[in-house]
Amino acid sequence: MGISTDFSVAISGAGLSGLCLAQYLMRAGIDVHVYERDPGPFVRQQGYRIILDRYGLEALRESLPRPLYRLALATGDEPGGHLRFTDSRLRNAFTINFKIEPNATRQVDRLTLRSILMCGLDGRIHYGKAAVAVDNGGPAGLRLRFADGGAVAATVVVGADGVGSDLRAQLMPDAGPANTPMAGVYGRSPLRQNGESIIPDALRTSGVLAIADSPGRAFFFTSMRFGESPREAFARMAPGSYAPTGDDYVMWGLLLRREEVPAGVRGNLLALRELAARMSTDFHPLIRRLVESAELDATVLNLFVTGRRPQRWAVPRATMMGDAVHAMPPFGAHGGNTALRDAALLGERLVEARAGGMSVEEAIAGYQDEMVPYAFHAVDTAAGLMRRLTGGAAAPHWVLTRVLPRLHRVTVPEA
Ligand SMILES: Cc1cc2nc3c(=O)[nH]c(=O)nc-3n(C[C@H](O)[C@H](O)[C@H](O)COP(=O)(O)OP(=O)(O)OC[C@H]3O[C@@H](n4cnc5c(N)ncnc54)[C@H](O)[C@@H]3O)c2cc1C
Repeated sequence: MGISTDFSVAISGAGLSGLCLAQYLMRAGIDVHVYERDPGPFVRQQGYRIILDRYGLEALRESLPRPLYRLALATGDEPGGHLRFTDSRLRNAFTINFKIEPNATRQVDRLTLRSILMCGLDGRIHYGKAAVAVDNGGPAGLRLRFADGGAVAATVVVGADGVGSDLRAQLMPDAGPANTPMAGVYGRSPLRQNGESIIPDALRTSGVLAIADSPGRAFFFTSMRFGESPREAFARMAPGSYAPTGDDYVMWGLLLRREEVPAGVRGNLLALRELAARMSTDFHPLIRRLVESAELDATVLNLFVTGRRPQRWAVPRATMMGDAVHAMPPFGAHGGNTALRDAALLGERLVEARAGGMSVEEAIAGYQDEMVPYAFHAVDTAAGLMRRLTGGAAAPHWVLTRVLPRLHRVTVPEA
Protein backbone atom coordinates (compact mmCIF):
# COMPACT_ATOMS: atom_id res chain seq x y z
CA MET A 1 0.00 0.00 0.00
CA GLY A 2 1.34 3.49 -0.84
CA ILE A 3 2.12 5.88 2.01
CA SER A 4 0.25 9.18 1.91
CA THR A 5 1.70 12.13 3.81
CA ASP A 6 -1.47 14.14 4.54
CA PHE A 7 -1.71 12.43 7.95
CA SER A 8 1.53 11.84 9.77
CA VAL A 9 2.43 10.31 13.13
CA ALA A 10 5.65 10.99 15.07
CA ILE A 11 6.48 8.51 17.85
CA SER A 12 9.15 9.15 20.46
CA GLY A 13 10.78 5.90 21.61
CA ALA A 14 11.64 2.78 19.61
CA GLY A 15 10.77 0.34 22.40
CA LEU A 16 8.10 -2.34 22.29
CA SER A 17 5.05 -0.08 22.04
CA GLY A 18 6.57 2.56 19.73
CA LEU A 19 7.71 -0.03 17.20
CA CYS A 20 4.47 -2.00 17.43
CA LEU A 21 2.41 1.12 16.67
CA ALA A 22 4.75 1.97 13.78
CA GLN A 23 4.15 -1.51 12.33
CA TYR A 24 0.39 -1.14 12.69
CA LEU A 25 0.32 2.25 10.98
CA MET A 26 2.74 1.22 8.20
CA ARG A 27 0.44 -1.65 7.26
CA ALA A 28 -2.42 0.84 7.00
CA GLY A 29 -0.37 3.11 4.73
CA ILE A 30 0.03 5.91 7.30
CA ASP A 31 3.16 8.07 7.25
CA VAL A 32 4.88 7.20 10.55
CA HIS A 33 8.35 7.95 11.91
CA VAL A 34 9.95 6.81 15.18
CA TYR A 35 12.52 8.93 17.02
CA GLU A 36 14.80 7.10 19.44
CA ARG A 37 17.16 8.65 21.99
CA ASP A 38 19.75 5.84 21.80
CA PRO A 39 22.42 6.35 19.14
CA GLY A 40 21.72 2.95 17.54
CA PRO A 41 19.36 -0.02 17.71
CA PHE A 42 21.24 -2.27 20.12
CA VAL A 43 23.37 -0.06 22.34
CA ARG A 44 21.87 -1.24 25.64
CA GLN A 45 21.77 -4.77 26.92
CA GLN A 46 18.25 -6.06 26.70
CA GLY A 47 19.14 -9.57 27.60
CA TYR A 48 15.94 -10.59 29.21
CA ARG A 49 12.97 -12.57 28.15
CA ILE A 50 9.40 -11.46 28.36
CA ILE A 51 6.26 -13.51 28.74
CA LEU A 52 3.64 -12.51 26.22
CA ASP A 53 0.07 -13.12 27.32
CA ARG A 54 -3.02 -13.17 25.14
CA TYR A 55 -3.17 -9.36 25.00
CA GLY A 56 0.45 -9.03 23.89
CA LEU A 57 0.11 -11.82 21.33
CA GLU A 58 -3.14 -10.44 19.98
CA ALA A 59 -1.61 -6.97 19.62
CA LEU A 60 1.32 -8.43 17.69
CA ARG A 61 -1.01 -10.46 15.50
CA GLU A 62 -3.00 -7.33 14.65
CA SER A 63 0.04 -5.13 14.06
CA LEU A 64 2.63 -7.25 12.30
CA PRO A 65 2.63 -8.67 8.78
CA ARG A 66 1.86 -12.40 9.10
CA PRO A 67 5.45 -13.67 8.45
CA LEU A 68 6.79 -11.45 11.23
CA TYR A 69 4.17 -12.68 13.69
CA ARG A 70 5.09 -16.26 12.80
CA LEU A 71 8.74 -15.34 13.29
CA ALA A 72 8.00 -14.19 16.86
CA LEU A 73 6.33 -17.53 17.64
CA ALA A 74 8.99 -19.61 15.86
CA THR A 75 11.86 -18.06 17.85
CA GLY A 76 9.93 -18.13 21.15
CA ASP A 77 10.23 -20.76 23.84
CA GLU A 78 7.96 -23.78 23.80
CA PRO A 79 4.38 -23.05 24.95
CA GLY A 80 3.23 -24.04 28.43
CA GLY A 81 5.49 -24.31 31.46
CA HIS A 82 5.06 -23.39 35.13
CA LEU A 83 5.72 -20.64 37.62
CA ARG A 84 6.85 -22.08 40.94
CA PHE A 85 6.84 -20.22 44.22
CA THR A 86 9.40 -21.69 46.59
CA ASP A 87 11.29 -20.87 49.74
CA SER A 88 14.94 -19.81 49.56
CA ARG A 89 16.06 -23.47 49.37
CA LEU A 90 13.81 -24.09 46.32
CA ARG A 91 11.22 -26.12 48.25
CA ASN A 92 7.91 -25.74 46.44
CA ALA A 93 5.13 -23.67 48.05
CA PHE A 94 2.80 -23.73 45.05
CA THR A 95 2.87 -23.84 41.25
CA ILE A 96 0.93 -22.07 38.51
CA ASN A 97 0.64 -24.05 35.25
CA PHE A 98 0.48 -22.18 31.93
CA LYS A 99 -1.78 -23.49 29.18
CA ILE A 100 -0.05 -25.53 26.48
CA GLU A 101 -1.56 -23.58 23.60
CA PRO A 102 0.64 -21.88 21.05
CA ASN A 103 -1.35 -18.63 21.21
CA ALA A 104 -2.04 -18.44 24.97
CA THR A 105 1.25 -17.46 26.64
CA ARG A 106 4.67 -17.43 25.04
CA GLN A 107 8.06 -16.58 26.41
CA VAL A 108 10.17 -14.63 23.90
CA ASP A 109 13.58 -12.99 23.98
CA ARG A 110 13.11 -9.22 24.20
CA LEU A 111 16.00 -8.40 21.89
CA THR A 112 14.67 -10.82 19.27
CA LEU A 113 11.18 -9.38 19.57
CA ARG A 114 12.54 -5.86 19.19
CA SER A 115 14.49 -6.94 16.10
CA ILE A 116 11.29 -8.41 14.63
CA LEU A 117 9.41 -5.19 15.37
CA MET A 118 12.08 -3.24 13.47
CA CYS A 119 11.81 -5.34 10.29
CA GLY A 120 10.53 -3.33 7.35
CA LEU A 121 10.78 0.04 9.13
CA ASP A 122 13.98 1.00 7.28
CA GLY A 123 14.38 4.75 7.01
CA ARG A 124 11.55 5.30 9.51
CA ILE A 125 13.49 4.87 12.76
CA HIS A 126 15.78 7.81 13.55
CA TYR A 127 18.44 7.29 16.22
CA GLY A 128 20.15 9.86 18.43
CA LYS A 129 16.90 11.87 18.61
CA ALA A 130 15.91 12.56 22.22
CA ALA A 131 12.42 14.07 22.20
CA VAL A 132 11.99 16.88 24.74
CA ALA A 133 8.71 18.68 23.99
CA VAL A 134 5.64 18.97 21.78
CA ASP A 135 4.58 22.37 20.38
CA ASN A 136 1.28 23.36 18.87
CA GLY A 137 1.72 24.76 15.38
CA GLY A 138 3.72 23.65 12.38
CA PRO A 139 2.31 22.73 8.98
CA ALA A 140 0.76 19.43 10.13
CA GLY A 141 -0.61 20.66 13.46
CA LEU A 142 2.06 19.65 15.98
CA ARG A 143 5.81 19.79 16.19
CA LEU A 144 7.98 17.31 18.13
CA ARG A 145 11.15 18.94 19.40
CA PHE A 146 14.49 17.23 20.13
CA ALA A 147 17.36 17.89 22.51
CA ASP A 148 19.66 18.60 19.54
CA GLY A 149 17.54 21.63 18.59
CA GLY A 150 15.81 19.92 15.65
CA ALA A 151 12.04 19.44 15.25
CA VAL A 152 9.59 17.55 13.03
CA ALA A 153 6.00 18.37 12.10
CA ALA A 154 3.28 15.74 12.55
CA THR A 155 -0.51 15.47 12.75
CA VAL A 156 -0.23 13.28 15.86
CA VAL A 157 2.59 12.87 18.39
CA VAL A 158 2.86 9.75 20.55
CA GLY A 159 5.11 9.53 23.61
CA ALA A 160 6.33 5.94 23.92
CA ASP A 161 9.53 6.89 25.68
CA GLY A 162 9.36 4.45 28.57
CA VAL A 163 9.43 4.73 32.33
CA GLY A 164 11.72 7.79 32.45
CA SER A 165 9.64 9.63 29.81
CA ASP A 166 10.76 13.15 28.97
CA LEU A 167 7.40 14.01 27.41
CA ARG A 168 5.26 12.89 30.37
CA ALA A 169 5.60 16.08 32.43
CA GLN A 170 4.22 18.09 29.53
CA LEU A 171 1.55 15.70 28.19
CA MET A 172 0.30 14.25 31.53
CA PRO A 173 1.36 16.90 34.04
CA ASP A 174 -0.26 15.29 37.09
CA ALA A 175 0.85 11.71 36.54
CA GLY A 176 4.52 11.23 37.37
CA PRO A 177 5.19 7.72 38.77
CA ALA A 178 5.57 7.04 42.49
CA ASN A 179 8.53 5.19 44.01
CA THR A 180 7.95 1.79 45.62
CA PRO A 181 10.09 0.35 48.45
CA MET A 182 11.44 -2.40 46.14
CA ALA A 183 14.20 -2.74 43.56
CA GLY A 184 15.72 -5.49 41.42
CA VAL A 185 19.18 -6.36 40.18
CA TYR A 186 18.71 -8.28 36.92
CA GLY A 187 21.22 -10.48 35.19
CA ARG A 188 21.60 -13.26 32.71
CA SER A 189 23.76 -16.37 32.69
CA PRO A 190 24.46 -18.91 29.94
CA LEU A 191 22.06 -21.84 30.16
CA ARG A 192 24.70 -24.38 29.18
CA GLN A 193 27.89 -24.33 31.17
CA ASN A 194 30.70 -26.88 30.68
CA GLY A 195 28.49 -28.74 28.24
CA GLU A 196 25.57 -29.13 30.67
CA SER A 197 22.41 -27.22 31.47
CA ILE A 198 22.83 -25.25 34.69
CA ILE A 199 19.08 -25.69 35.29
CA PRO A 200 18.17 -29.20 36.48
CA ASP A 201 15.57 -31.16 34.56
CA ALA A 202 12.96 -30.70 37.30
CA LEU A 203 12.92 -26.96 36.53
CA ARG A 204 13.34 -27.20 32.75
CA THR A 205 10.12 -25.40 31.91
CA SER A 206 9.65 -23.47 35.17
CA GLY A 207 10.06 -19.90 36.16
CA VAL A 208 10.90 -19.81 39.88
CA LEU A 209 10.27 -17.13 42.49
CA ALA A 210 12.26 -18.12 45.59
CA ILE A 211 11.10 -16.10 48.57
CA ALA A 212 13.66 -15.51 51.31
CA ASP A 213 13.00 -15.94 55.03
CA SER A 214 13.44 -12.22 55.61
CA PRO A 215 10.56 -10.23 54.07
CA GLY A 216 11.50 -7.98 51.14
CA ARG A 217 14.00 -10.36 49.59
CA ALA A 218 13.36 -12.84 46.76
CA PHE A 219 15.11 -14.30 43.75
CA PHE A 220 13.52 -14.97 40.38
CA PHE A 221 14.94 -17.05 37.55
CA THR A 222 13.74 -18.67 34.35
CA SER A 223 15.42 -20.15 31.33
CA MET A 224 14.90 -18.90 27.79
CA ARG A 225 15.28 -21.58 25.14
CA PHE A 226 14.88 -20.41 21.58
CA GLY A 227 12.41 -22.59 19.67
CA GLU A 228 14.24 -22.04 16.41
CA SER A 229 17.58 -20.24 16.16
CA PRO A 230 16.88 -16.58 15.28
CA ARG A 231 19.56 -16.63 12.54
CA GLU A 232 17.83 -19.49 10.70
CA ALA A 233 14.29 -18.30 11.32
CA PHE A 234 15.03 -14.72 10.19
CA ALA A 235 16.81 -15.98 7.06
CA ARG A 236 13.64 -17.88 6.16
CA MET A 237 10.88 -15.49 7.26
CA ALA A 238 12.47 -12.03 7.12
CA PRO A 239 15.38 -12.39 4.71
CA GLY A 240 17.78 -9.45 4.70
CA SER A 241 16.76 -8.26 8.20
CA TYR A 242 19.17 -8.10 11.12
CA ALA A 243 18.94 -11.28 13.19
CA PRO A 244 20.27 -11.42 16.76
CA THR A 245 22.26 -14.41 17.94
CA GLY A 246 20.20 -16.80 19.97
CA ASP A 247 22.12 -18.59 22.68
CA ASP A 248 19.83 -20.03 25.34
CA TYR A 249 20.17 -18.30 28.68
CA VAL A 250 18.83 -18.01 32.22
CA MET A 251 17.38 -14.66 33.18
CA TRP A 252 17.42 -13.88 36.90
CA GLY A 253 16.53 -11.05 39.21
CA LEU A 254 17.44 -10.46 42.83
CA LEU A 255 14.63 -8.51 44.47
CA LEU A 256 15.58 -6.38 47.43
CA ARG A 257 14.48 -3.31 49.31
CA ARG A 258 15.37 0.00 47.71
CA GLU A 259 17.08 1.12 50.92
CA GLU A 260 19.50 -1.82 50.58
CA VAL A 261 20.82 -0.52 47.24
CA PRO A 262 24.05 1.40 47.97
CA ALA A 263 24.38 4.85 46.42
CA GLY A 264 26.36 4.94 43.18
CA VAL A 265 25.93 1.32 42.04
CA ARG A 266 23.72 2.16 39.06
CA GLY A 267 25.73 1.55 35.91
CA ASN A 268 28.62 0.01 37.90
CA LEU A 269 28.36 -3.55 36.61
CA LEU A 270 30.87 -5.10 39.00
CA ALA A 271 29.30 -3.43 42.03
CA LEU A 272 25.85 -4.59 40.94
CA ARG A 273 26.93 -8.19 40.54
CA GLU A 274 28.72 -8.07 43.89
CA LEU A 275 25.55 -6.72 45.47
CA ALA A 276 23.55 -9.59 43.96
CA ALA A 277 26.15 -12.11 45.16
CA ARG A 278 26.18 -10.68 48.69
CA MET A 279 22.39 -10.64 48.94
CA SER A 280 21.98 -14.19 47.66
CA THR A 281 24.32 -16.03 50.03
CA ASP A 282 21.41 -17.54 51.99
CA PHE A 283 19.72 -18.93 48.89
CA HIS A 284 20.03 -22.40 47.33
CA PRO A 285 23.46 -23.13 45.75
CA LEU A 286 21.89 -23.13 42.26
CA ILE A 287 20.93 -19.49 42.75
CA ARG A 288 24.43 -18.61 43.89
CA ARG A 289 25.85 -20.37 40.80
CA LEU A 290 23.57 -18.31 38.57
CA VAL A 291 24.85 -15.06 40.05
CA GLU A 292 28.50 -16.18 39.91
CA SER A 293 28.24 -17.12 36.22
CA ALA A 294 26.36 -13.99 35.12
CA GLU A 295 27.39 -12.13 31.97
CA LEU A 296 28.64 -8.92 33.47
CA ASP A 297 27.44 -6.49 30.78
CA ALA A 298 23.86 -7.72 31.08
CA THR A 299 23.56 -6.73 34.75
CA VAL A 300 21.12 -3.89 35.40
CA LEU A 301 19.46 -2.15 38.35
CA ASN A 302 15.76 -1.39 38.24
CA LEU A 303 14.14 0.74 40.97
CA PHE A 304 10.47 -0.20 40.86
CA VAL A 305 7.88 2.56 40.43
CA THR A 306 4.14 2.63 39.85
CA GLY A 307 2.42 4.97 37.40
CA ARG A 308 -0.36 7.32 38.54
CA ARG A 309 -3.69 7.66 36.73
CA PRO A 310 -3.59 10.74 34.48
CA GLN A 311 -6.43 13.17 35.21
CA ARG A 312 -5.62 15.55 32.40
CA TRP A 313 -4.13 15.16 28.93
CA ALA A 314 -2.62 18.55 28.26
CA VAL A 315 -1.99 18.57 24.49
CA PRO A 316 -4.85 17.53 22.19
CA ARG A 317 -3.54 15.35 19.30
CA ALA A 318 -0.65 14.16 21.44
CA THR A 319 -0.89 11.06 23.63
CA MET A 320 1.24 8.43 25.35
CA MET A 321 1.59 4.66 25.56
CA GLY A 322 3.32 1.96 27.55
CA ASP A 323 5.57 2.43 30.57
CA ALA A 324 5.57 6.20 29.96
CA VAL A 325 1.95 6.19 31.20
CA HIS A 326 1.55 3.12 33.36
CA ALA A 327 4.90 2.01 34.74
CA MET A 328 4.50 -0.99 37.02
CA PRO A 329 6.75 -3.26 39.06
CA PRO A 330 7.68 -6.42 37.10
CA PHE A 331 5.27 -8.77 38.89
CA GLY A 332 2.73 -10.70 36.83
CA ALA A 333 4.29 -9.92 33.42
CA HIS A 334 1.90 -7.14 32.48
CA GLY A 335 4.14 -4.19 31.51
CA GLY A 336 5.13 -5.15 27.99
CA ASN A 337 1.80 -6.80 27.23
CA THR A 338 -0.10 -3.69 28.24
CA ALA A 339 2.29 -1.54 26.18
CA LEU A 340 1.67 -3.70 23.08
CA ARG A 341 -2.08 -3.63 23.71
CA ASP A 342 -1.96 0.19 23.82
CA ALA A 343 -0.12 0.25 20.50
CA ALA A 344 -2.68 -1.91 18.68
CA LEU A 345 -5.60 0.00 20.19
CA LEU A 346 -4.19 3.43 19.36
CA GLY A 347 -3.28 2.17 15.88
CA GLU A 348 -6.87 1.06 15.31
CA ARG A 349 -8.27 4.42 16.47
CA LEU A 350 -5.85 6.45 14.34
CA VAL A 351 -6.64 4.39 11.25
CA GLU A 352 -10.35 5.08 11.88
CA ALA A 353 -9.63 8.80 12.17
CA ARG A 354 -7.56 8.81 9.02
CA ALA A 355 -10.41 7.07 7.17
CA GLY A 356 -12.69 9.96 8.19
CA GLY A 357 -14.79 8.05 10.72
CA MET A 358 -14.03 10.53 13.53
CA SER A 359 -11.78 13.48 14.32
CA VAL A 360 -8.21 12.90 15.47
CA GLU A 361 -9.11 14.40 18.85
CA GLU A 362 -12.03 11.96 19.25
CA ALA A 363 -9.85 9.04 18.20
CA ILE A 364 -7.19 9.90 20.76
CA ALA A 365 -9.71 10.58 23.54
CA GLY A 366 -11.37 7.22 22.76
CA TYR A 367 -8.00 5.47 23.05
CA GLN A 368 -7.23 7.18 26.38
CA ASP A 369 -10.68 6.42 27.83
CA GLU A 370 -10.29 2.73 27.00
CA MET A 371 -6.59 2.39 27.89
CA VAL A 372 -6.58 4.00 31.36
CA PRO A 373 -8.94 1.45 33.03
CA TYR A 374 -7.24 -1.71 31.74
CA ALA A 375 -3.72 -0.32 32.15
CA PHE A 376 -4.23 0.86 35.73
CA HIS A 377 -5.96 -2.40 36.58
CA ALA A 378 -2.66 -4.03 35.51
CA VAL A 379 -0.67 -1.50 37.57
CA ASP A 380 -2.79 -2.27 40.65
CA THR A 381 -2.44 -6.03 40.09
CA ALA A 382 1.35 -5.80 39.73
CA ALA A 383 1.71 -3.56 42.78
CA GLY A 384 -0.57 -5.86 44.83
CA LEU A 385 1.43 -8.94 43.83
CA MET A 386 4.66 -7.19 44.75
CA ARG A 387 3.29 -6.31 48.20
CA ARG A 388 2.01 -9.82 48.85
CA LEU A 389 5.16 -11.60 47.70
CA THR A 390 7.80 -9.32 49.12
CA GLY A 391 6.06 -7.11 51.67
CA GLY A 392 6.24 -7.29 55.41
CA ALA A 393 2.71 -8.67 55.86
CA ALA A 394 3.50 -11.48 58.25
CA ALA A 395 0.78 -14.03 57.51
CA PRO A 396 1.18 -14.59 53.74
CA HIS A 397 4.96 -14.52 54.04
CA TRP A 398 4.89 -17.08 56.83
CA VAL A 399 2.57 -19.38 54.88
CA LEU A 400 4.73 -19.08 51.75
CA THR A 401 8.10 -19.62 53.36
CA ARG A 402 7.35 -21.80 56.40
CA VAL A 403 4.16 -23.77 55.94
CA LEU A 404 3.74 -24.68 52.27
CA PRO A 405 7.36 -25.75 51.58
CA ARG A 406 7.17 -28.24 54.48
CA LEU A 407 4.31 -29.96 52.69
CA HIS A 408 6.30 -30.50 49.51
CA ARG A 409 9.25 -32.61 48.57
CA VAL A 410 12.62 -31.09 47.77
CA THR A 411 12.60 -29.87 44.13
CA VAL A 412 16.34 -29.53 43.60
CA PRO A 413 18.76 -31.34 45.91
CA GLU A 414 21.44 -29.02 47.26
CA ALA A 415 24.42 -31.31 46.72
C1 LIG B 1 13.75 -7.69 33.73
C2 LIG B 1 12.40 -7.33 33.17
C3 LIG B 1 11.51 -8.35 32.82
C4 LIG B 1 10.28 -8.03 32.26
N1 LIG B 1 9.43 -9.05 31.91
C5 LIG B 1 8.24 -8.76 31.35
C6 LIG B 1 7.34 -9.81 30.96
O1 LIG B 1 7.62 -11.00 31.15
N2 LIG B 1 6.16 -9.46 30.39
C7 LIG B 1 5.82 -8.16 30.18
O2 LIG B 1 4.73 -7.90 29.65
N3 LIG B 1 6.64 -7.15 30.53
C8 LIG B 1 7.84 -7.41 31.11
N4 LIG B 1 8.68 -6.39 31.45
C9 LIG B 1 8.26 -5.00 31.23
C10 LIG B 1 8.46 -4.57 29.78
O3 LIG B 1 9.79 -4.80 29.36
C11 LIG B 1 8.13 -3.08 29.65
O4 LIG B 1 6.87 -2.84 30.22
C12 LIG B 1 8.08 -2.66 28.17
O5 LIG B 1 9.36 -2.72 27.59
C13 LIG B 1 7.50 -1.24 28.03
O6 LIG B 1 7.48 -0.90 26.66
P1 LIG B 1 7.50 0.64 26.25
O7 LIG B 1 7.35 0.66 24.77
O8 LIG B 1 6.56 1.41 27.06
O9 LIG B 1 8.93 1.16 26.69
P2 LIG B 1 10.38 0.62 26.38
O10 LIG B 1 10.34 -0.72 25.73
O11 LIG B 1 11.15 0.81 27.64
O12 LIG B 1 10.92 1.66 25.30
C14 LIG B 1 11.11 3.02 25.54
C15 LIG B 1 12.08 3.55 24.48
O13 LIG B 1 12.10 4.97 24.51
C16 LIG B 1 13.44 5.42 24.40
N5 LIG B 1 13.49 6.79 24.96
C17 LIG B 1 13.56 7.14 26.26
N6 LIG B 1 13.54 8.49 26.37
C18 LIG B 1 13.45 8.98 25.10
C19 LIG B 1 13.35 10.29 24.57
N7 LIG B 1 13.36 11.38 25.36
N8 LIG B 1 13.25 10.43 23.23
C20 LIG B 1 13.25 9.35 22.40
N9 LIG B 1 13.33 8.08 22.88
C21 LIG B 1 13.41 7.89 24.20
C22 LIG B 1 14.23 4.38 25.16
O14 LIG B 1 15.60 4.41 24.80
C23 LIG B 1 13.52 3.10 24.71
O15 LIG B 1 14.06 2.57 23.52
C24 LIG B 1 9.92 -6.69 32.04
C25 LIG B 1 10.82 -5.66 32.40
C26 LIG B 1 12.05 -5.98 32.97
C27 LIG B 1 13.00 -4.88 33.33
